[in-house]
Formats: sequence, structure tokens, C-alpha cells
Amino acid sequence: MIIILMGPPASGKGTQAELISDKYNIPNLSAGKIFRDEVEKESLLGLKVKSYIELGNLVPDELTVQMIGEKLGQLNLSQGIILDGFPRTIGQTKELERLLDGKNLSVTFVFYLDVLHETLLQRLSERGREDDQEKVIQNRLQLHEKQTKPLLDFYRYKKVLRTINGNQDVHEVFAEINQFLQGYLS
Ligand code: AMP
Repeated sequence: MIIILMGPPASGKGTQAELISDKYNIPNLSAGKIFRDEVEKESLLGLKVKSYIELGNLVPDELTVQMIGEKLGQLNLSQGIILDGFPRTIGQTKELERLLDGKNLSVTFVFYLDVLHETLLQRLSERGREDDQEKVIQNRLQLHEKQTKPLLDFYRYKKVLRTINGNQDVHEVFAEINQFLQGYLS
């Protein structure tokens, strides 16, 4: 299964990605987490992406696609993969399609975690990550609306989009996702 988790910041992508990964034993790639780890390590990539992350901007496609491409190259994709926070732009989506096509694979599900704006603001204010400050949050939410949400149309057209009510508690959200996975596997 090739699973993509999409949703605004603090919609619970990372948490759900981990739950799916644990239950189904599918590796999980979080673009944001990889970038944050690189920043922490002060690697060359980390230095290049630091300011984008701090300001809540998207890391340029070139760097993002290269990083994800390398990670995917190290994995045996027939085992499946969960992509948390990638793709986020049309360019990234095209690259992912090209990469999967080349391996005769295709996206199984895109789970879009739909969460009310007020809930997101509440969660973001409580989380306290470095890029969770007011101004940065506004930018991240706007970029999600403008750059990432349009991708839903593409995945809807491909009939792989499943919209999940992300306002519920963690386990209820997972139960919704799990139903689709069970349905697919049975
Ligand atoms: P996240 O952990 O998904 O909230 O991502 C944190 C930050 O990492 C984002 O605000 C971006 O700066 C960067 N980032 C994560 N994923 C991507 C992506 N697919 N494309 C560009 N930048 C990304």
C-alpha cells in the first residue's frame, strides 16, 4: 500500500502515520521530521532548509524531491510506504507519480485529515514547536490552502482520496482510516 497523509498543520498527520505504520508494519516517511532532524544535525541539507522551516515556508521542490527520492530509493517500495507531508505541491506530485510509474506502482489511498480552523489554531498554540508561533502558523496555514489543497482534486480524480473527520480524538480518527485499509485488504 502506498499511503499519503495530507492535511493542514496540526491536523494529526504524523500521529496517524505512526499508528498506521505500527499496525500494518509499513515504513513511514515524514518530510517535516526528516528536515527537522537535518537542521538539528546541522548537515548541509539542514543548513539549506533551516530558514524555510523557521519562517513556515515550503522548502523548494528541488531540495524536497531530491531528499524524498533518495529516501524512497533506499526502501523496498513493494513493502508499502506511508508518506506524511509529501507531496505538498503540484511539482512534488508530478515527481512522485513519475517515480511510482517507473516502478509500476500507484498511490493506494490519500487520507485528507479535515479539521476545523479553530481546532487547528487551538492545537498549534498548545503544541509549542519552534515553527508554531503565530505569524509562522498563519503562513503555514495559507500555504496549505494555496499550494497543497489543490492537490486534492488530482487525487479525487484518481479515486484514491478519502476525507477523514480529523476533529475527533486520535483513536476515532484512526478507526476511520483503518476501515478503509481493512476494506482494501479484505
Ligand atoms: P510538517 O512537520 O509536515 O509540519 O513540516 C514542517 C515544515 O517542513 C514545513 O512547514 C515546511 O517548511 C517543511 N516541509 C515539510 N514537508 C515539506 C514538503 N513536502 N515540501 C516542502 N516543505 C516541506
